[in-house]
Amino acid sequence: MLLAATVRSQVNPEICRYPLGMTGGQIQDEDISASSQWSESTAAKFGRLDFDNGDGDGAWCPDIMAEPDGLKEYLQVDLRSLHFITLVGTQGRHADGMGNEFAQRYRIKYSRDGSNWVGWHDRKGRQVIEGNRNAYDVVLKDLEPPIIARFIRFMPVTDHSMFVCMRVELYGCEWLDGLVSYSIPDGHQMIYRGLDVYFNDSVYDGASAESSSVHSFTKLTKGLGQLTDGTWGLDDFLHSHIYGMWPGYDYVGWSNKSIPKGYVEMTFEFDHVRNFTSMKVHCNNMFSRGVRMFRQATCYFRSESDWESDPVSFRPTVDRVSQSARFVTVPLGDRTASAIKCRFHFSDLWMLFSEVAFQSGSAVYNTSLTPRKHGHPTNILPGDDPTHKVDDSNTRILIGCLVAIIAILSAIIVIILWRQVWQKMLEKASRRLLDDELTARLAVQTQAFSFLHSSLSTESSSTTNSTYERIFPLCSDYQEPSRLIRKLPEFAQSTEQLGPSTSCRALAAGGSDSAPHYAEADIISLQESSDSSTYSITAVNMNLFAGTDSSMREFPRNKLTFKEKLGEGQFGEVHLCEAEGMQDFLEEDLSIEGNNESPLLVAVKTLREDANKNARNDFLKEIRIMSRLRDPNIVRLLAVCVDTDPLCMITEYMENGDLNQFLCNLRLKEAADEDKTGQEDKQDKSMVSYSKLIGMAVQIASGMKYLSSLNFVHRDLATRNCLVGKNYTIKIADFGMSRNLYRGDYYRIQGRAVLPIRWMSWESILLGKFTMASDVWAFGVTLWEILTLCKKQPYSQLSDEQVIENTGEFFRDQGKQVYLPKPPCCPDRVYNDLMLSCWRRNAKQRPSFQEIHSRLMESLA
Ligand code: ADP
Repeated sequence: MLLAATVRSQVNPEICRYPLGMTGGQIQDEDISASSQWSESTAAKFGRLDFDNGDGDGAWCPDIMAEPDGLKEYLQVDLRSLHFITLVGTQGRHADGMGNEFAQRYRIKYSRDGSNWVGWHDRKGRQVIEGNRNAYDVVLKDLEPPIIARFIRFMPVTDHSMFVCMRVELYGCEWLDGLVSYSIPDGHQMIYRGLDVYFNDSVYDGASAESSSVHSFTKLTKGLGQLTDGTWGLDDFLHSHIYGMWPGYDYVGWSNKSIPKGYVEMTFEFDHVRNFTSMKVHCNNMFSRGVRMFRQATCYFRSESDWESDPVSFRPTVDRVSQSARFVTVPLGDRTASAIKCRFHFSDLWMLFSEVAFQSGSAVYNTSLTPRKHGHPTNILPGDDPTHKVDDSNTRILIGCLVAIIAILSAIIVIILWRQVWQKMLEKASRRLLDDELTARLAVQTQAFSFLHSSLSTESSSTTNSTYERIFPLCSDYQEPSRLIRKLPEFAQSTEQLGPSTSCRALAAGGSDSAPHYAEADIISLQESSDSSTYSITAVNMNLFAGTDSSMREFPRNKLTFKEKLGEGQFGEVHLCEAEGMQDFLEEDLSIEGNNESPLLVAVKTLREDANKNARNDFLKEIRIMSRLRDPNIVRLLAVCVDTDPLCMITEYMENGDLNQFLCNLRLKEAADEDKTGQEDKQDKSMVSYSKLIGMAVQIASGMKYLSSLNFVHRDLATRNCLVGKNYTIKIADFGMSRNLYRGDYYRIQGRAVLPIRWMSWESILLGKFTMASDVWAFGVTLWEILTLCKKQPYSQLSDEQVIENTGEFFRDQGKQVYLPKPPCCPDRVYNDLMLSCWRRNAKQRPSFQEIHSRLMESLA
């Protein structure tokens, strides 16, 4: 019973609208192919709806140059088995602002065997589907009629005025019926009181040929059509519940006069040999107009090459009372076959069918067995009803459904009770509480999902131009966090430890500190990158990166003289170089404060030679970002060498390296000593005063104030990403994460996405939201690093996994969250009013950089 219920619900077109796995990943990369691709990073496998996971450039984009008329380009999905497809979704490429390509119109082709392709058209014959109007929103289209196929091709229709990129999803369910084609004589035309009534199979997708017999008729072969489209006819065949269709549209019908044999022969071909229990035929029975269900059905079976000689015959009881259309069940006696040929004998002038379905093996039905709108079987009078078997089987299935629902509800009650006990135990262990959170969020996602489904269901009878743009963003809002949260427990296992030798904190901890603190070790790895489609960036932020940079000039490479290696970053090495003639090159713009040396010392960041295309693009994007930033507390990009490889960016040289290393080599000068001398630099270069530390924080706040005036979200503010010049000048550097935000990606180390979780706000970790307020959170951590002189990693007592758990506590806000402790030198006021305010749960209640800057200045006074 459970099985029957499951199968039944799976094929109901009302709910047969499940995403088939482009978004969820159930469809494998190798099953997504394309006629061409613009580049490796826009290959077919990136054409997954709502995916922008950073592997590629965010969508499938065909190479329209390769195919000048562009009309043959396609993105193909192999579903591996026949599916009933009711809905398609498309989206363009936005790649978090970098892309603006989408398919305004497209067509669909499909195939059941991979060799015969059919162009889909709607019930009015229109092939072209209106697609996307922007690069962001998902547009869903009902397929009316639905498609039964294994292979689907999306074919953008383009006029070459723009590049086209697509991300797609298919919605439906598996076609368990197994029927791959039926052959029938095409339906006839009736003239009813002067009205033309067409009973042809208007959506048949196979071949049609004129029969050569004496009584010529059109024979339809090798296709599926109205008899399997999941739509039943109304009692009155002159009307259709599909708006705007001609009289008789719902039915395929034959006139007794035109078929002298007295029966209509239909052949049904199946995917493999099956054990057939019954066949259900939806018939019209409007006898007042000369239409009646069949008098007799005789079915022949074929397992191998020949038809077996012993057919099964069935005579339904003639219904002279009810004119309702109904399903008639023909028992097939558990016969084994891969093809069935049935002869339906007329009992009146006309015979009209709207649906045929088979029950084989373990209760497999096609889509037509659940009423869409009209509960025809219920109209039949009991007792004298020839189709009472239909009722019986429906009742059985109904009972099956009820039992299944009761079983599921009982299971849910047990789970809820069990969870209550479990939760009490878990309160002690915050890690498990986070898992709990995960479940809750998944539930929200499921709710959002079912909301989508119910919304879709209510719209299901509308025509093909229904879009659900308002629904999808809601879904993706919930999808992203849960996807990220789901990955949280994996964090612990995948910490990258790329730079332990540079770790001051690790040394300070005498090697016992298992979490090396520096650079990449401060960044936690994910096995997979996450979709960053929900990451917020503002319009201003977008403009910052739009277009190409014209101001950044090419510097002659041969005028750079290597001095020493300064460090190594994600892209390659950073070198100290002398740049001959740089001052002249920069001309009037001599704002590299206090540096009039010639040749000028510069830092040259070079893209490593084996860098792949993505890294190369990222490198160029970072150049584009940096070239637009001009502030005394932001590291300046002076020039570039991008005409030839290796690509280089030339930035001002900050002689004291990064702030993290700089500070961890220093010790705090006692307040008393500070008062005494005021000359700490000269006396002991290894000492630094509290006021100097706050002075550094002020400079960072000032740089961030500038960024926030541009609405630019840095996403990776930390001492490791600030550089120190002469006289404690601090400048913010490393726009890698903001660059990656823009790419819709996190930068990958050895193929892994990375996140600086110890600096990230709870909403950045759990919701994927990066805003100025999350930069403020990171500033609070950076301030804490500064005041502890980077001797320890933030939350050094917590494992990465525990940091994530703590994030969950920030979210729950039940007072169980752990804050970074007050650094010993930090006055209460600075800790309570400033540092803690950066970590407020409500992002709106966190101070702005403007406020932070002035509060820090005040604290210095
Ligand atoms: P990436 O962003 O790829 O990780 P970084 O910009 O962090 O690379 O550079 C790596 C290291 O090189 C830094 O930690 C720092 O020590 C050094 N470095 C980078 N830029 C400069 C600079 N302008 N002046 C001095 N040292 C620098």
